[in-house]
Amino acid sequence: MRQTQLFTKTSRHAPKDEESKNAKLLIQAGFVHKEMAGVYSFLPLGLRVLNKIIGIIREEMNAIGGEEVLLSSLQDPAVWKKSGRWDDKVINVWFKTKLLSQGELGLANTHEEPLTNLMREHIASYRDLPRYVYQFQTKFRNELRAKSGIMRTREFIMKDLYSFSRTEEEFRAFYEQCAKAYMKIFTRAGIGERTYRTFASGGSFSKFSDEFQTTCQAGEDTIYIDKKKNIAINKEVYTEEVLSELGITKSGLSEERAIEVGNIFPLGTKFSSLLGLTFKTAEGIAKPVIMGSYGIGPARLMGTVVEVLADEKGMVWPVSVAPFRVHLIGLPGVEVEAEKLYKELSRYAEVLYDDRAEVRAGEKFADADLIGIPYRVVVSKKTLEQKSVEVKARKNGHIELIPIAELQNFLARPL
Ligand code: ATP
Ligand code: MG
Repeated sequence: MRQTQLFTKTSRHAPKDEESKNAKLLIQAGFVHKEMAGVYSFLPLGLRVLNKIIGIIREEMNAIGGEEVLLSSLQDPAVWKKSGRWDDKVINVWFKTKLLSQGELGLANTHEEPLTNLMREHIASYRDLPRYVYQFQTKFRNELRAKSGIMRTREFIMKDLYSFSRTEEEFRAFYEQCAKAYMKIFTRAGIGERTYRTFASGGSFSKFSDEFQTTCQAGEDTIYIDKKKNIAINKEVYTEEVLSELGITKSGLSEERAIEVGNIFPLGTKFSSLLGLTFKTAEGIAKPVIMGSYGIGPARLMGTVVEVLADEKGMVWPVSVAPFRVHLIGLPGVEVEAEKLYKELSRYAEVLYDDRAEVRAGEKFADADLIGIPYRVVVSKKTLEQKSVEVKARKNGHIELIPIAELQNFLARPL
């Protein structure tokens, strides 16, 4: 893509009304636009990142047997009244709206009720199970705080998967498989090393749920980590009783701030019992389906990548989620050659070509650092004298002169 085709512009300064690093950088670089507190729109560069994250999650969910759907954002109060969760005291983040013709609707904040209700039409026998259903779907939550940029917003896309199993063992096996898939997702997105599967409170059906917490100063949560045993515990369940149950002692734990990038939750038969989702066993006995829910916020994940990898010059995207792999910059006097290289590179890589004629080289370099594309490739008269280009890795700042003939191989190496 040519940079002159991008309608977005970078700003010289970070916005003053943002507290979080991710919002400051993403707005300054033109990835997102702030509509109001806690509400952001995604612009071309930001949408490319978001879609790459969604692509990674989708691959991993399909790999464990997920079937993708898209449920509606407008929700019928009737199913929520059945579960007792229509009440604002039970779910305190509801956005609700009124119908002109009378009556109220809910704006989706999660989907246990509508999906459980829907599955009643498709699940009757043990032969219809297990099922794993997921979506990337817009949630609305009337969050009290909105100070973490795109990591906590009042409207956001969530990947939510729901599992429907026959037995506790079948449920547990999938739960563990999904936990592994989550670690793969966070590793592929570049934050695996600092992301911990973390014991958190479990609700009414099991003692614990599991959060995936990425250590980061900007996190809203506090966790305790035993790095030797690779066990982490959320502060909310950090008690003597839990510690002894997990066989760890306070002395081995380090306290850290962390961002909850994902959450998996045993639901037992809570929703299936309340909404009547049952199946017949081989013996003909009706039983409630055993459920679990599994969430990830792609935008929160994107904000987390910015928070943990950015440096003082700007964002630093891992190749896997970067808006482009290569940022090509031609210095004055080599326009024809830069144009030729752009076409050549585009055959095997995603390239953003800074073809802005009026912009000084220094400004282009600063923008490249701010935008954070993994490889910056500069062509100049000097590099061309050696049939080469200058390649800078954004991650570590290493600069190398690479012969054009070897560029494809060089850019294909893992960073
Ligand atoms: P939190 O504890 O941070 O409020 P939650 O426990 O309510 O989140 P879930 O309902 O389990 O979150 O949602 C699943 C995932 O969706 C979370 O792990 C997070 O990645 C993402 N998420 C939740 N709330 C938001 C939000 N307001 N903005 C962006 N992403 C969110
Ligand atoms: Mg939570």
